[in-house]
Amino acid sequence: MPETEKLVIRNIGLMLSGLIEDPILEADCIIAENGKISAIGREKDLNTDGATTTVDAHGVTLAPGLIDSHIHPVVGDYTPRQQQLHWIDSTLHGGVTTLISAGEVHMPGRPRDVVGLKAMAIASQRWYENFRPSGVKVHAGAPVIEHGMVEQDFKDLADAGVKLLGEVGLGTVKDGTTGKQMVDWARKYGIQSTIHTGGPSIPGSGLVDADMVLETGTDVVGHINGGHSALPDDQIICLCESCKAALEIVHNGNERAAILTLNTARELGKLDQVILGTDGPAGSGVQPLGILRMVALLSSMGGAPAEQAICFGTGNTSRQRKLDTGRLEVGMCADFVLMDQAQHAPGKDILESIQLGNLPGVGMTVIDGKATSQRSRNTPPAQRLPEIIVG
Ligand SMILES: [Zn+2]
Repeated sequence: MPETEKLVIRNIGLMLSGLIEDPILEADCIIAENGKISAIGREKDLNTDGATTTVDAHGVTLAPGLIDSHIHPVVGDYTPRQQQLHWIDSTLHGGVTTLISAGEVHMPGRPRDVVGLKAMAIASQRWYENFRPSGVKVHAGAPVIEHGMVEQDFKDLADAGVKLLGEVGLGTVKDGTTGKQMVDWARKYGIQSTIHTGGPSIPGSGLVDADMVLETGTDVVGHINGGHSALPDDQIICLCESCKAALEIVHNGNERAAILTLNTARELGKLDQVILGTDGPAGSGVQPLGILRMVALLSSMGGAPAEQAICFGTGNTSRQRKLDTGRLEVGMCADFVLMDQAQHAPGKDILESIQLGNLPGVGMTVIDGKATSQRSRNTPPAQRLPEIIVG
């Protein structure tokens, strides 16, 4: 039998579960065995023997690794969109451990014929399954639907391992009737769907209004706050009222519409549907700190307690997207971000500091029970840093 890889992280000052109904855990120690969370609690009550890696958190905060629900990867850790290398590594330094593609639409010469788009989706799914940039989990292979696709195409994609659709509306399908037909086929074969909500992002993309979003019925209302041009307020409110789908707020969107979405979701008792993305790489560039910036925005300007805002970018996305990460629960992947109040940032503690609009400092990320980065090169410096003691 191979030795069990056992990670013990002790001396945690604050543990954030990612669970919106119970965001703060009474715990100071978390244990992972072979990449999965095996115990959470007080160190004195847990069996820490046999650790292969021990981390002294030195009192910092531990949360599930952040999830970006909306990115546009192309290949490896390169994006032609802004000619940027290592943008995923930079994003890891912003505390993000899982990325979800909303379509590999920035591939130069992207095929739009049915055989070609299916082939690219399958290839994209494979190359990110086979290669994790800096350890980051990239769920990709998200075809953009085009006219001419038939039910068998969705079965073929699902059989080949495709689990996502790219944003409906970025291809030739721009009507709700066709969109719904194809989204229903996708869902029948276990493929999740999202949609481009709002005005065109860049020359070549188009408007998707609330009527089309509602008729199409995707699993995620992609960038409900626009990417960047948001729908009129009454349509955003209508989507919040009508949709059981995830309400995705992105960094590459309209900040005022983001706050409107949050406030409306709160009034409707639907905060569990709020999830976060960046939409990067996009016209506004790549956003290594995008998810943390959304947490700080929604907390400071939208009045969400910081521990709740972090759930939008962790447990909520995990549940809406049916992931095995993003929640501190036994059996989930040991994907964590360790962070502390930034040096010289106002606030009595990390949570108040975020509520005042400041970013925390990331000190370490962990993916599948292994440290993937230490002190972030991108966030403001944390007051305290976790330390690998053994391993
Ligand atoms: Zn979009």
